[in-house]
Amino acid sequence: MSNYVKDLMADVKAKNPVQPEFHQAVEEVVESLSIVLDKHPEYRAAKILERIIEPERVLMFRVPWVDEQGETHINRGFRIEMNSALGPYKGGLRFHPSVNLGILKFLAFEQVFKNSLTTLPMGGGKGGSDFDPKGKSDLKIMRFCQAFMAELFRYIGPNTDVPAGDIGVGGREIGYLFGMYKKLRNEFTGVLTGKGLNWGGSLIRPEATGYGTVYFGAEMLATKNDSYEGKTCLVSGSGNVAQYTVEKINQLGGKAVTLSDSSGYIYDEEGVNDEKLAYVMELKNVKRGRIKEYADKYKSAVYTPLDPKADHNPLWDHKADCAFPCATQNEINEKDAQNLLKNGVFLVSEGANMPTTLDGVKLFLDKKILYGPAKAANAGGVAVSGLEMSQNSMRVPWPREEVDGRLQQIMKNIHTTCKETAERFGTPGNYVNGANIGGFLKVADSMMDQGVV
Ligand code: NDP
Repeated sequence: MSNYVKDLMADVKAKNPVQPEFHQAVEEVVESLSIVLDKHPEYRAAKILERIIEPERVLMFRVPWVDEQGETHINRGFRIEMNSALGPYKGGLRFHPSVNLGILKFLAFEQVFKNSLTTLPMGGGKGGSDFDPKGKSDLKIMRFCQAFMAELFRYIGPNTDVPAGDIGVGGREIGYLFGMYKKLRNEFTGVLTGKGLNWGGSLIRPEATGYGTVYFGAEMLATKNDSYEGKTCLVSGSGNVAQYTVEKINQLGGKAVTLSDSSGYIYDEEGVNDEKLAYVMELKNVKRGRIKEYADKYKSAVYTPLDPKADHNPLWDHKADCAFPCATQNEINEKDAQNLLKNGVFLVSEGANMPTTLDGVKLFLDKKILYGPAKAANAGGVAVSGLEMSQNSMRVPWPREEVDGRLQQIMKNIHTTCKETAERFGTPGNYVNGANIGGFLKVADSMMDQGVV
C-alpha cells in the first residue's frame, strides 16, 4: 500500500467511523487507482478521488407507518446521492433489516463506477430502508412503500435521481412506490426503473442483472476459447439476480447445482433445470417461501441450513467450474475462496454487489482465475434501467430482442474496456483494476470539465 493510499484510507476511516463496508469498497478502488494517480498528477491536484469519496448529498429520514392492526411502526429511510458528473443519480433501493448508512454508501460508491462503465449517461446513487419485507402482507408492504415515498418524492425526479430495485425491492414494491410518487406529484414520468410492462417498464429489465452476469462470464471464457457448455456452476441467492443467472446458464449449456437464501442452501447434483427453475420462481416470487422447500419437492436435492457461527459457507465447497455469488455482500470470505479454488472453480462472475472480501479477491487475483468483479459483471441491471429511461423519454417501448441485443453488446463493451484498461495500466487479466480504472477515468474527466462543484 503506498503512502498516499494509507493516508487516504486513514482519513476515510476517521471521517466515516463504523462503516466497514464503505471502507472496504473504497480501499479496493483506491488501491487500483494509485497506478492512475501516479501517471496523472492533475487528478491528485484537483482532489478528484477525495471528492468522489464524499457523497454529494446524504438524505436520511423517518418513515412512520401504521399496519392493518393499527400498530405504528417507525423505520429509517435513506438516499445517498453520490455523484452526478455523468447524469442523474441512479441506483437501487434496498429494503432489508441490515440496511444502514455505511452499507448504502458502499453501494452508492460502487454504483458510480459501474454506471460509468455502462457508457450510459447515469450518475450514481443508492437508497433504502431497514424495513424487513419478509413475511409481511401485501397491505403492510404497500403502506410502508407509500410512507417511504411520502418523503423521498421531494428529492427525486426523472432528471434528478431515478431509483430502482435491489434486495427486497422487486416489481411489487416499485409499483407501490411509483403509484405514490404519481399521486403526490400529479405527474406520470420515468422516475423509477423496474416498472411493470403495462406502465413504462422495459422488457428484459427483470432478467438483465442475471443475464448480464452470465454474459460477462461468457466474454471472459471466450478469451480462453472456452464456453459454458458442460460446465458445473455454483449460484448463491434465489432472488431476482440468482433466478435469471440460472436461466441463462441453462440456455448456454451449463448446469447450476446450488441456490440459497438467508436460511440455507440446496445442492442439486442433477442441476436446476428449467422446470425446477420455474418452481423456484413461483416459490420465491409468488408464494414467497423458503429454498428449503425445493429439497422437499425434488429428491435429487440436499438442503443444508446456514450456520451463522461457521467460518465458511459450505455452498462454495462443491466441485465446480464456475461460481456466481448472487445473494449479498461479503458472502465469499478467504476460506470460501480457498475452497472454490481447491474444488476447481476457475471463473467467478459476481451478480451480487461486493460479494467477496478483500482477502478473497486477493486470492482470486493471485491465482489468476477469470474473476469478474461486481461493478463490471453485474452492470447489466443498471444498463437496462438506463435503456428503460431512454424508452420512457421517447415514449416508445423496444422489443425484447432489441433490449437483449443491446444488453449483450453493453456487457461485451464493458468486458473489452476492463480487459484493455488492465493491459494499458500494466496488469493484464486483472479485471478489478480494469473496472475500477475504466469506470474512474470517465467520471474524473467529467468532474475536471465541470469545475469544483
Ligand atoms: P432479492 O431480494 O431478489 O434476492 C436476494 C437473495 O439473497 C435472496 O435469496 C435472499 O435470501 C438472499 N440474501 C439477502 N441477504 C442475505 C444475507 N444477509 N445472507 C444470505 N442471503 C441473503 O435481491 P436481488 O436478487 O435483486 O439482489 C441480490 C444481489 O444482487 C444484491 O447484492 C444486490 O445488491 C445485487 N444487485 C442487484 C441488482 C438488481 O437489478 N436487482 C443489480 C445489481 C446488483 P432471503 O430471501 O432469505 O433474504
